Amino acid sequence: MTEGPQQPQLRRDPITSQWVILAAGRGKRPHAPGGAGAGGGQGGSCPFCEGRESETPPEISACRQGEGCDCPGWTIRVFPNKFPILANIPPEPGGSGDPPVQQMPAAGFHEVIVDSPEHAVTPWETGAGQVLAMLETYRERITALRGRGDIKYVHIIRNHGAGGAASLEHPHSQLFALPFIPAAVETELDGFASARPGEAACVLCDLLQEEERSGERVVDANADFVAFAPFASRLPYELWIVPRRHQQSFDGCDCLESMAELMTVVLNRYGERLDDPPFNYWIHTYPLQGESRPYHWHLELVPRLTIPGGLELGAGVWVNTVAPEAAAAAIRG
Ligand SMILES: [Zn+2]
Ligand SMILES: [Zn+2]
Ligand SMILES: [Zn+2]
Repeated sequence: MTEGPQQPQLRRDPITSQWVILAAGRGKRPHAPGGAGAGGGQGGSCPFCEGRESETPPEISACRQGEGCDCPGWTIRVFPNKFPILANIPPEPGGSGDPPVQQMPAAGFHEVIVDSPEHAVTPWETGAGQVLAMLETYRERITALRGRGDIKYVHIIRNHGAGGAASLEHPHSQLFALPFIPAAVETELDGFASARPGEAACVLCDLLQEEERSGERVVDANADFVAFAPFASRLPYELWIVPRRHQQSFDGCDCLESMAELMTVVLNRYGERLDDPPFNYWIHTYPLQGESRPYHWHLELVPRLTIPGGLELGAGVWVNTVAPEAAAAAIRG
């Protein structure tokens, strides 16, 4: 029996054209789901805690007062993932073989953004200032990677709680710099183009207008952003945070303070009203390369309260058991 490649590899499904990342080495990473006992608390065995900087790969960037690198005193720290699903090497143009067995090295970058120095305190529990520092770090990293010219898409996510697939409890986000545009974003790009073909108008701007008009699914809003449970939510308590002004890319956003304020309120309410549910959020933004197409960036947040079954995984048909109108009312209070 062969074990397959130890280096991360991309393999392309010949029917759907979707890329799959094969990352066999990642099975060796430490797990401390929930954190209880295993790595819990400052001074435990958690490699993301302040004072244990030598246990992670060297820092790419950090927010810290004063001088230094890979030492305590930071509020945000960014470093390459020690167990990456991408090879942390630049993509190289080149062949990937022919269908039905196309493959290539999983070139790209997988970074960890530790966005709280406190092991058991999330950025939104610390406050809007910490959430702003986190969002500014996201923006800086995308801007830096956009400048390279060899990355096609940067996907930034948060996995919160063991049920949200977080392998370590210490609050952190992750960044995936990919050599391809992910299928979910391609589908959205096609959707933006076909919803209002040939027009300057934008379907997400239209949806925002409608959500604000009806108000039944709006959770909260401020001058620059609206948080709402989308009309066709896939999952119970799914929430989107969308800039009011039409903006193609997250890294072009100049009102992150407003976003930090809204995110802080919304995430704290999630914890209170839904009893600290496991969740994932991700930012959908415009690709780093390619011709200009209509797009409006946004953040999607999904609590992981249900397990997708055969209909969801096999047919891509989502069954939502909580009406978005009721979800919005519950989170709004
Ligand atoms: Zn920790
Ligand atoms: Zn728009
Ligand atoms: Zn989206």
